[in-house]
Amino acid sequence: MIRIGILGYGNLGRGIECAIKHTKDMKLVAVFTRRDPSSVKILTSEAKVDSVENILSYQDDIDVLVLCGGSATDLPVQTPEYAKYFNVIDSFDTHANIPEHFAKVDDAAKATGHFGLISVGWDPGMFSLNRVYANAILPNGADYTFWGKGVSQGHSDAIRRIEGVVDARQYTVPVESALEAVRSGKNPELTTRQKHTRECYVVAADGADKAKIEEEIKTMPNYFADYDTTVHFITAEEMKKNHSKLPHGGFVIRSGKTGWEDENNHVIEYRLKLDSNPEFTASVIIAYARAAYRMHKDGKIGAHTVFDVAPAYLLDMSADEIRAHLL
Ligand code: NAP
Repeated sequence: MIRIGILGYGNLGRGIECAIKHTKDMKLVAVFTRRDPSSVKILTSEAKVDSVENILSYQDDIDVLVLCGGSATDLPVQTPEYAKYFNVIDSFDTHANIPEHFAKVDDAAKATGHFGLISVGWDPGMFSLNRVYANAILPNGADYTFWGKGVSQGHSDAIRRIEGVVDARQYTVPVESALEAVRSGKNPELTTRQKHTRECYVVAADGADKAKIEEEIKTMPNYFADYDTTVHFITAEEMKKNHSKLPHGGFVIRSGKTGWEDENNHVIEYRLKLDSNPEFTASVIIAYARAAYRMHKDGKIGAHTVFDVAPAYLLDMSADEIRAHLL
């Protein structure tokens, strides 16, 4: 049994717990939280909930610690810190800061002989792998990534910070005509506005100036100003009934040419359509936690990413079984 610990119990932490339930070779030992442990209720009856203050006393009981904090402020501190004491895996998704995060985890893990796997999930994660495979196969081509339709937590939070907004949900939606142009192999050059639209559902406070809220959303720099954005005002009941899930997904497409005269065109497309972003991300992490355990057993230490993991390490199957059934 691979013994798993979870640090941080939000959407992703709960998703990890659910993903472990669907494995035969893993078990959840404990969930660690910065909050009062008695306020955190988990689903697995045989696992403990404990304060993060006590985590070091579990070093002999946990094979891989899954870090489920947020990428903005939790993971940049937590992953390097706990890589000193445990084999760790995280889903760090601030793409621009991945090299810096990798270096810190690498130093911490190498110093004590531990194994770290960072930025595991779907983007970064499965989308990154598909970009690598497609680039290796079709060097003469172009990459396209479309996100959605799905909830962007960051954009939803940005709307919630506007005065007069009680609650908000923002969906990123890929533009169908842009997708079709890419799939046709025309290698179009697309602007930000041509690739995605943004759909916002907003609950406004009683008496709030809705026109002003809409204007503030649509002109918000970095978040909405470069997109065609629609704003729908709805009631709190409608929000709860129709927008309480966290769906997401998207498309990674590469089209490229082969042949002496570039006469043949090829399109590689990888699609995800997810009812629950955190539960799917957790399922990817759990497969890679199995790989982290095995790679550490093989003597590997330091930081790694999905690019360093051989596919056969991900499955709870023998090499013979994999060759017989999946090759
Ligand atoms: P979240 O629900 O906001 O949880 C983040 C942390 O906040 C938890 O670990 C928890 O830590 C604390 N928390 C949760 N609920 C709380 C509550 N009711 N009161 C106080 N604190 C609470 O975030 P998430 O949805 O799990 O996402 C975590 C990260 O996953 C995101 O930041 C994102 O970067 C990453 N992610 C990556 C991918 C990918 O494809 N790579 C995809 C999705 C998400 P404590 O238990 O210690 O308080």
